[in-house]
Amino acid sequence: MIKITFLSLSGGQGKSTCSLFTAKRLSKNSPVLTIDVDPQASLTSYLGHNVQPTEPTLLEVLKGTVDPTDGIYTLNDNTFLMPADDGLETAIEYLASTGLGVSMLKTIIEPLEETFSYAIIDAPPQKTQLSRTAMGAADYLVIPVETSVKGCASLVRTLETYQELKRWKGTTAEILGIIPFRDKWVGSYRTKESQSAIDFMEEYVGDQLLPSIRESEKYKQAINQRITLEELGYGDLAYPFEVLESRLLECLNQNQ
Ligand code: ATP
Repeated sequence: MIKITFLSLSGGQGKSTCSLFTAKRLSKNSPVLTIDVDPQASLTSYLGHNVQPTEPTLLEVLKGTVDPTDGIYTLNDNTFLMPADDGLETAIEYLASTGLGVSMLKTIIEPLEETFSYAIIDAPPQKTQLSRTAMGAADYLVIPVETSVKGCASLVRTLETYQELKRWKGTTAEILGIIPFRDKWVGSYRTKESQSAIDFMEEYVGDQLLPSIRESEKYKQAINQRITLEELGYGDLAYPFEVLESRLLECLNQNQ
């Protein structure tokens, strides 16, 4: 099981959107476990899952009150979800109190290695024990970044946090790529704000930069209708996820 965490230490950077469309793409050919590590539970809702009050979620799995498999819901043949709801907020203190928070998710999903080909992990935007455990579980990190000043600041903070955790061996994850999010164009011209953000990103991360996700209502429409961009008739907008998948396969071949 290859574990990919979508991380960005600022809100609205496209983590859940990228987690969703990457999971949809990979699940065409392989079983994918999606794990919602954000108490805002956007990924859970984008996947159309309503957590019932009595249903176990990631919270109960982290606290060890249920087995990991009891916290996994089958959404279709190849898509599975360990959901979140706002109660997950209470896991932050729990993870801190154990002193083992950073490695907890990694340890919990280890027995699922043979069941799924991929785990797609959606991290929360705050620098807490939840984002640390999401980084700690990953083989690869993908960082979506809004093409704005706020996005660039978030990229710097996110990479610094990752590097700090890596230095103290809290994660062995490698960066798979940085995805510019909400890249705005007017006609055939990119807006100045998007251009200067992308120039900054290019300079800051070099060839780790992936193709951008255009500012477009079509992504929201596909999310709301629970269909793929291809099914919506806008397959070209899925290009960044195609490139992400090829880069992942390249990295896997290199590491073999
Ligand atoms: P949070 O940190 O709050 O969990 P996030 O980083 O997961 O946010 P998303 O939920 O993926 O960010 O996206 C933020 C918002 O942008 C959502 O309302 C989403 O529907 C919208 N959105 C997604 N794709 C696009 C796009 N290409 N253009 C414009 N808006 C988009």
